[in-house]
Amino acid sequence: MLGLAGFRLLAVSEYGGELEQAIETSVEEDFCRGCGVRARLHDRRPTWVRDLPTGGRPVTLVWVKRVWRCMQSACGVSTWSERSPEIRARASLTERARREACRRVGQDGHSVSQVAAAFGVAWATVMAAVSEYGLPLVDDPNRLAGVSALGVDETAFLAANWSHHTVFVTGVVDVRASRLIDIVPGRSAKALATWVGEQPQAWRDDITVAALDPFRGYATALRTSLPEATRVLDAFHVTRLGFAAVDDVRRCVQQDSTGHRGRRDDPLYSIRRLLRRGHDHHTETSWQRMLAGLDAGDTGDEQIGKTWIAAQDLRLIYRCHDRAEAEQKLYRWFVHCADAEVPELLRLARTIDSWREELLAYFDTGGISNGPTEAMNLLIKKVKRVGQAAIEEGLLVDPSPRSDRQSRGPPLNGVTTHWRPARAVARRLCWSMASTS
Ligand SMILES: [Zn+2]
Repeated sequence: MLGLAGFRLLAVSEYGGELEQAIETSVEEDFCRGCGVRARLHDRRPTWVRDLPTGGRPVTLVWVKRVWRCMQSACGVSTWSERSPEIRARASLTERARREACRRVGQDGHSVSQVAAAFGVAWATVMAAVSEYGLPLVDDPNRLAGVSALGVDETAFLAANWSHHTVFVTGVVDVRASRLIDIVPGRSAKALATWVGEQPQAWRDDITVAALDPFRGYATALRTSLPEATRVLDAFHVTRLGFAAVDDVRRCVQQDSTGHRGRRDDPLYSIRRLLRRGHDHHTETSWQRMLAGLDAGDTGDEQIGKTWIAAQDLRLIYRCHDRAEAEQKLYRWFVHCADAEVPELLRLARTIDSWREELLAYFDTGGISNGPTEAMNLLIKKVKRVGQAAIEEGLLVDPSPRSDRQSRGPPLNGVTTHWRPARAVARRLCWSMASTS
């Protein structure tokens, strides 16, 4: 029932919705460290420690420690108490509970405070466990092994507040395995280049493809630090640029015709979400609604309509079967943008033109893409939730255990009004020692 190596259970009880277990080691004898002579049992002292929660309730172990005494008068050693690798001296949590706390934070993505509440300990206690058991996993060189296609993507990590601007991070992804492998502070060329530079040469040589979002800094960093890797513009971001242009034109037209920002009853404002939808994701109803909105709100030369077509076509380029077909389609796309004479569309065309090689490289690399970028961003947000406080503390949490356990419940040797059975058993052991010595 206890399952803790080297310990046996003496009693179990429930108190205040929590489980309490009195335990002792299965050790029957001990020998002096100084002279090696068999020691005598001198005293029993209780120590409290939290263990793995059971059935959603925090569990407290009352370990009735043995105190041994060396009876040799010539020996310098007098008394010592039992130790266990499973329950460290002055620890608030058993080691198995600390490992589990780290796993819940790292693997299940629970927040530190959530785990602290489940285990019935302080935030800092869990954070210390996460640092101790988690950092070796992060530092494990094999963690980054086997990456051949690298993806980089910027994400807002912390929203701006009174003390800082929006904090951006660069998510580094193993694209083929859809795995977030690191989060680099900042989104500059230097931040990324430094990170790549820190990796072993052999690792860098294995990277043949690098997927990026359309940000010059990343392109520069990847060109200098991974010169052999083919740079591919991430399809998701290209598609998003197209729809961003539709949004811009809609806002512009709306402002010109109504003189104010979008209101609920404006025909263009009410179809803003429909305009961002892929053409093949419309139902008959949504399609009709969108057309009616455009009829009512678009300019005479159909600026929104033309931008919408461009955004859809840009998205469809990725359905081409090979590079030659994509090149042709892209050429026709540029012609469409030039003919449209919509300033936002010309600007989009210039942007795409400057990334032409990286866009078409998609077809040379078998359609590599950051793909689950959105999923990765969600994961980064989750990491943010879990680690925000840790990062603000610089991960430098004092690993010394907190003494919060001392405030919990009456001390065993003091005068108590509540007799909690597991404690009563522990206490009886201590008393029996007191009466025999
Ligand atoms: Zn001794």
